[in-house]
Amino acid sequence: MFVNIPKVLNTVVRQLSLTASRNDKFSCKVLVVGGGSGGCATAAKFSKILNKNDLIVLEPSDYHYYQPLFTLIGGGANKLEDSRKKEKDVLPTNCTWLRDKALEYEPEKNTVRTEKGHTIEYDYMLVATGLELRYDKIPGLLQALDKPTDVCSIYSPKYVSHTYEVLKKLETGNAIFTFPNSPVKCPGAPQKICYLTDHYLRKHNRRGNVKVTYNTSLPVIFGVKAYADALWKLCNERDINVNVRTNLVQVNADKNEAIFENLDKPEEKTTVKFNMLHVTPPMATPESLSKNKQLTNGAGFVDVNKDTMQHLNYKNVFAIGDCSSSPNSKTAAAAAAQTKVVFENMNAVMKGDSPRLMYDGYASCPLVTGDKCILAEFDYDLKPLETFPFNQAREIRLMYIMKKYFMPTLYWKLMMNGYWNGPAMFRKLMHLGMGK
Ligand SMILES: Cc1cc2nc3c(=O)[nH]c(=O)nc-3n(C[C@H](O)[C@H](O)[C@H](O)COP(=O)(O)OP(=O)(O)OC[C@H]3O[C@@H](n4cnc5c(N)ncnc54)[C@H](O)[C@@H]3O)c2cc1C
Repeated sequence: MFVNIPKVLNTVVRQLSLTASRNDKFSCKVLVVGGGSGGCATAAKFSKILNKNDLIVLEPSDYHYYQPLFTLIGGGANKLEDSRKKEKDVLPTNCTWLRDKALEYEPEKNTVRTEKGHTIEYDYMLVATGLELRYDKIPGLLQALDKPTDVCSIYSPKYVSHTYEVLKKLETGNAIFTFPNSPVKCPGAPQKICYLTDHYLRKHNRRGNVKVTYNTSLPVIFGVKAYADALWKLCNERDINVNVRTNLVQVNADKNEAIFENLDKPEEKTTVKFNMLHVTPPMATPESLSKNKQLTNGAGFVDVNKDTMQHLNYKNVFAIGDCSSSPNSKTAAAAAAQTKVVFENMNAVMKGDSPRLMYDGYASCPLVTGDKCILAEFDYDLKPLETFPFNQAREIRLMYIMKKYFMPTLYWKLMMNGYWNGPAMFRKLMHLGMGK
């Protein structure tokens, strides 16, 4: 349970530990592990009802990225700086930020041990550590990305800007886009950058010289049929080759060669020459989390009730965002819709009640197709759950404008301050109170 030291002393200890010492003990009412989209948005809500010392956010990064903008950065419509703010300016002022990493979780003792050697005791914990990019899982990939080659990736702030450089110099040959054999965040992004490349090449009269191919490990182009139908049509019209169940297994950047396996016949490998290779890396929850078998399921995700986001065994533990086992599409839009559920349900548990709010699996994916966008919105059942009262499964210019200009503001100003819980309320208004 808690370290029972007086609050004043506790604060002093905490301040010291922020600077120099090791093996300090911290205690708090709510610990948020990870200050990304979900963690920061929920911490902002808690900061309105808790004291600074009662709310600890454990987050190692100096910068917070609005990752949905990475796609547009790769396509040349934005710069990396547009997606980045200092973590200290994004986290609520009324919380204690520990710039450190969770190393070991001990849910039986209500403690987390950190990389710098500290121990944090909590009453309630929200795990929000997201997904890690595992470029290292594909032989030759990191070597290719770490020097300026024709290999690129919008997924990391480290590599995203290079994507546009590769695109600008692409004149002829093969442009190949991949989707890995693992869960990913924003499952639409691997094909959005493919459409942006196609659009750019057409605009610069080079499309006829370049063969564009999208190789996905999935058996489908997109999980929601209504949008998948629209995307297949788009690929046919734009002459984009789509290969399903096709997984990148090796990159030989010095020869501009990529090796793919057929997931239905793993012994069948194909070597392809490329002039541009855009890689979406395999992803996984951080090892510090996935190695804890009490907290996570077999796939390494925090084992929660998909409706309440409460841990199945530890009632004082919740998860939000990409690291949770809830089977929704991993997006910031989903994390936004989860914040209210998590906040209200954690509050209920703190008062001795049962969690009441239910998350419906809402996720959204603005599928940028050039200077237009198909705004996919759907729920756990993979049924469209659209905000606007018209069919969103088609390319609409207004949706692109929303994605580029409106959504970043909504993220920084509302979601990061705890005021955005997803569009459910607007959806009801737009549909005159009918439907979900
Ligand atoms: C290219 C790209 C395009 C995308 N496009 C969209 C889009 O159009 N729409 C959309 O809604 N979503 C999109 N997303 C997905 C969206 O960014 C994520 O789903 C969202 O950020 C998930 O939030 P999260 O809080 O779970 O994880 P994150 O925001 O990734 O935050 C996780 C945090 O945990 C921290 N952390 C990690 N390990 C530890 C540890 N051991 N201890 C403490 N802290 C730790 C990390 O430093 C990080 O700050 C996109 C993502 C990418 C990469």
